[in-house]
Amino acid sequence: MSYDLIIIGAGPGGYVCAIRAAQLGMKVAVVEMRKTLGGTCLNIGCIPSKALLYASEMFEEAGHGMAPLGVLVAAPKLDLAAMMKHKDDTVAANVNGVAFLFKKNKIDSVTGEGCIAAPGKVVIKGEDGNEKTLEAKAIVIATGSDVAQLPGVEIDEKTVVSSTGALRLPKVPKRLIVVGAGVIGLELGSVWRRLGAEVTVVEFLDRILPGMDGEVAKQFHHMLEKQGFAFHLGHKVAKVEKAAGAVKATVEPVAGGGAKTIDADIVLVAIGRRPYTQNLGLEALGVAIDRGLVVVNSHFATNVPGVYAIGDVTRGPMLAHKAEDEGVALAEILAGEAGHVNYDAIPSVVYTSPEIASVGKSEEDLKSEGVAYKVGRFPFTANGRARAMRHTDGFVKILADAATDRVLGVHIVGFGAGELIAEAVVLMEFGGSAEDLARTCHAHPTMSEAIKEAAMAVDKRAIHV
Ligand SMILES: Cc1cc2nc3c(=O)[nH]c(=O)nc-3n(C[C@H](O)[C@H](O)[C@H](O)COP(=O)(O)OP(=O)(O)OC[C@H]3O[C@@H](n4cnc5c(N)ncnc54)[C@H](O)[C@@H]3O)c2cc1C
Repeated sequence: MSYDLIIIGAGPGGYVCAIRAAQLGMKVAVVEMRKTLGGTCLNIGCIPSKALLYASEMFEEAGHGMAPLGVLVAAPKLDLAAMMKHKDDTVAANVNGVAFLFKKNKIDSVTGEGCIAAPGKVVIKGEDGNEKTLEAKAIVIATGSDVAQLPGVEIDEKTVVSSTGALRLPKVPKRLIVVGAGVIGLELGSVWRRLGAEVTVVEFLDRILPGMDGEVAKQFHHMLEKQGFAFHLGHKVAKVEKAAGAVKATVEPVAGGGAKTIDADIVLVAIGRRPYTQNLGLEALGVAIDRGLVVVNSHFATNVPGVYAIGDVTRGPMLAHKAEDEGVALAEILAGEAGHVNYDAIPSVVYTSPEIASVGKSEEDLKSEGVAYKVGRFPFTANGRARAMRHTDGFVKILADAATDRVLGVHIVGFGAGELIAEAVVLMEFGGSAEDLARTCHAHPTMSEAIKEAAMAVDKRAIHV
């Protein structure tokens, strides 16, 4: 069988690329070794984690958050099996949705492990061991990423789990150790803390959320401590010992000094993800790899003609929407159009409580790049809607170029930050200034008024502080 395009991997990069390519008239096949479509994101990533984050937040709200609003709820009881069913149903609806879209767009879905035998040739090994070969003018590697392992610590997905195991624990652990204070660790740590676990986070660096704006990370660290998280920053996990359904982790200060042990029921290893390129035949094909990532040019082409790569397996942030946008751009480039991704305007959201959302440069980035900038801040304590909802934690911070006023970065800690960031992304996509935002009418009372006020604060003319 011969195609215009074969895509290996049906995650957000691969499946979106397939749909856009089919819309543009290409004959497309997608090879996926998982039984369901949607990749990490829909099966074991973004979607199940958000289902549990929402459900656990409702549980916590019902337990502690509603009495000041005059809503008295009897002590809520947890039905973990029902919460997990909500998560599984959400996943099923999403992965089945992709299968429907494939049918609608006449995309052939092939189940099995794909290997690029030669340019234009993909060999697919089915579960039964049988192989078949498909041919195409272009091949896209969209094989995503896998859990990064902690050397010397074996993940059994029972007592020592990755994010995948942490999404399906059969009961609430009494004590949970999270190794890594990145997005995934803090999100899943939040789920289990809200459901009753004592959560201790061990992080190698001396801060949480590496890469995020430092001021945002510092304030959020205090908020998490208030919620009951315990942190060992600047510590590394030297050893994890399992004994009779429990675990003992030995942690050591990175700077040297005395080791200590922490007992727990579950250890979640969340130190990051690594690009997945196993068994793809890339070495034999001569595809250039750099620190595990498939090397591509600005048109997503590898060094081997006819072979392309998108998503987590290539450079850039490991985010579903980055993979999707690359999928669309590549399909358009292959169809002779001008596909493009603006890497300076990719938002990033932490779905904790409160949420954190950011786009563009942090203050640390601007300092290290030697860019002169102005800062405007506005706290949610001064926002009427936030007060009305009792969601006054957090603030908006806008970084604008000192000379041109162009917005270079927006950082939000607060209720609904993940939705609020969208207007900042649109503004940055259009190269807008803080004054553009400040002069844009925002509905009252809304949380988004804090963005307008932060933009006004860039020019020291915020009204409500
Ligand atoms: C717990 C968790 C929460 C997350 N939350 C978010 C979030 O809220 N927002 C966000 O933007 N991102 C989130 N992410 C990251 C997001 O899931 C990834 O960035 C995204 O899935 C990457 O898409 P992709 O298409 O590049 O690869 P993937 O989604 O990893 O898909 C790759 C697919 O390729 C398949 N595959 C690999 N090799 C082969 C082969 N040889 N043959 C056939 N098939 C193959 C795999 O089975 C997989 O299904 C989260 C990740 C995790 C783990």
